[in-house]
Amino acid sequence: MKIKFIGVGSAFTTPKYYQSNMLILARSGKKMLVDCGSDARFALSECNIHNLNLSQEIDAVYISHLHADHIGGMEWLAFNTYFCPKRVIPKLFMEERLMHDMWNHSLKGGLGRIEGKKMNLSDYFDCRPLANGDSFLWEGIKFKLVQMPHVILDENGHCSFGLLIKEAEYEGPAVFVTMDTQFQPEVVSRIGEKVVAIFHDCETSPFKSIIHTHYDDLCTLPKTLKKKMWLYHYQPDPDCQPEADGFKGFVAKGQEFEFTEK
Ligand SMILES: [Zn+2]
Repeated sequence: MKIKFIGVGSAFTTPKYYQSNMLILARSGKKMLVDCGSDARFALSECNIHNLNLSQEIDAVYISHLHADHIGGMEWLAFNTYFCPKRVIPKLFMEERLMHDMWNHSLKGGLGRIEGKKMNLSDYFDCRPLANGDSFLWEGIKFKLVQMPHVILDENGHCSFGLLIKEAEYEGPAVFVTMDTQFQPEVVSRIGEKVVAIFHDCETSPFKSIIHTHYDDLCTLPKTLKKKMWLYHYQPDPDCQPEADGFKGFVAKGQEFEFTEK
């Protein structure tokens, strides 16, 4: 299994970084897109995945939460795969309430009708709704949803769902991708013991938004945890030295990580 970062930047980033979306590459050659932001069509085209081969290339999509740097490319993906002559319907994995809200509050306006036909999300995607804490299997890889706080208002706050990923059939090592999250030292420490690598949301702006984890807060984590930690979702031209501070480093745009059996 490989994880390729097609982008590593924050929501308001530049083409040098693109927004933080990933591809999971299975041994079978199939690809899962993890988040599909408004930059996705440019970021994917840099990986040689274009409008014309989109339906053949993207077997599945996972969505972590509803900000546009994570779902802003979903209308493009839905229309392109739907109207592709050799259409293969992509699977869509996401937490069930998020899936409902994504359709009703974000996508329905554009995707809700085509000429002469009312459309639903299930007309575009093979929908696989999941509950918090659920696991799912795709191409021999096991994914477990881990709810992370992102934007808190009330009980309907905006959560994000991180992923614990492991190649189930080959007893491969587990890795954790936090997705967008506030600083959660207990959760990350607990999960960190079980994994070989952590890919962590990392804000590098001079002020703290709180809805993301700031670099300064990550620096307070134990050395053993930082040693496994790659940082992504950072602002352009970050003024930090993550290796000197004990981290693996910033993930670069296009960087690929391979995780095989122990
Ligand atoms: Zn977000």
